[in-house]
Amino acid sequence: MKELKQIKYWLFDLDNTLYSGDTKVFDQVDKKMTSFISDKLNVTVEAAKKIQKNYFHEYNTTLNGMIKNHKIDAQEFLEFVHDVDLEFLKEDTKLQNELTNLKGKKFIFTNGSKAHAANVTKKIGIQNLFDGVFDIVDANFVPKPSVVPYKKIIEKYRIDPKYCIFIEDIARNLKPANALGMKTAWIKNNEPWAAEFSNESFIDYKIDNLSEFLRRINEQK
Ligand SMILES: [Mg+2]
Repeated sequence: MKELKQIKYWLFDLDNTLYSGDTKVFDQVDKKMTSFISDKLNVTVEAAKKIQKNYFHEYNTTLNGMIKNHKIDAQEFLEFVHDVDLEFLKEDTKLQNELTNLKGKKFIFTNGSKAHAANVTKKIGIQNLFDGVFDIVDANFVPKPSVVPYKKIIEKYRIDPKYCIFIEDIARNLKPANALGMKTAWIKNNEPWAAEFSNESFIDYKIDNLSEFLRRINEQK
């Protein structure tokens, strides 16, 4: 933990990282993706689910699979799938406090959209606490864990990976961060697609609760 006092750049994933997966917000996004596929490709919901799963597996995001195979309008997709009910997302004063006290630059690094990040962070009450949001459009639709967006965000915000930590719920997305010299922290969860590779050595920290993790860093002298 002590080495984390040296951190100057904090990268946070958005969904299921800055808020808990228990809120089921991302489940809604997931369902909207299914319905988008079902509509666009004119297939049943069951068939759409299979396609979605395959694309996520092969292309790391459903969007990428849809772009590569069906030339869909990415903006239309992003707007549709992120139009979800955020009612269950509550203001998180603990996270507000810890992010406020955290020294250094803070960025959101997401495979989702800026609009979704704005909606979510506003609900939690942390919308003014970041120095930037790097989304899938900034990434030119090349999602994590391709190393390409990691290099892009480093360049865009002039991040020194040696003094940077990336915090994420999908374990495999931490691998490129580690390879580039960043510290990595995994938000523990039981989703098979997110927990896969969580026992690999490219993970430095495993976190039960993000606010608590940040509190322990903040209270170190
Ligand atoms: Mg996530």
